[in-house]
Amino acid sequence: MERMVERMSAKYLVQPAAEGETALRRRAESLARQYLGGRGVPATIGWVTNQTTRWASATPAHRSIRLSHRLQGMPAWVVDYVILHEMAHLIEPSHNAAFWDLLTSYPSTGTAKAFLDGAAFAAHRNLTGAPEEY
Ligand SMILES: [Zn+2]
Repeated sequence: MERMVERMSAKYLVQPAAEGETALRRRAESLARQYLGGRGVPATIGWVTNQTTRWASATPAHRSIRLSHRLQGMPAWVVDYVILHEMAHLIEPSHNAAFWDLLTSYPSTGTAKAFLDGAAFAAHRNLTGAPEEY
């Protein structure tokens, strides 16, 4: 049943109960101030449940950012990185040197990328439980 509800939500774009649009906007503004010299603030930012192959996406023409609901529950510094990454795309659309330069001031860029790679790997392998030791 839970599975079915999940699938229905994904299909019909139901906003999950999480940080609302206003809170996300404030978070984005604060991150932009801290790391992007105030640039890259989106006009709209929100959670979506239809994004299953990407963590997030940005549309520079509309200055909009969509975050996958699968990021919910991840550490704040990982979600902050994803928000910063998408805001950087509002300044520089492609993954070129200028784009990555925008993210160098954020101290957790490298570890956040590694965290997301690990999460994607685990999802592909259907690894659910966390090992006690490694
Ligand atoms: Zn990107």
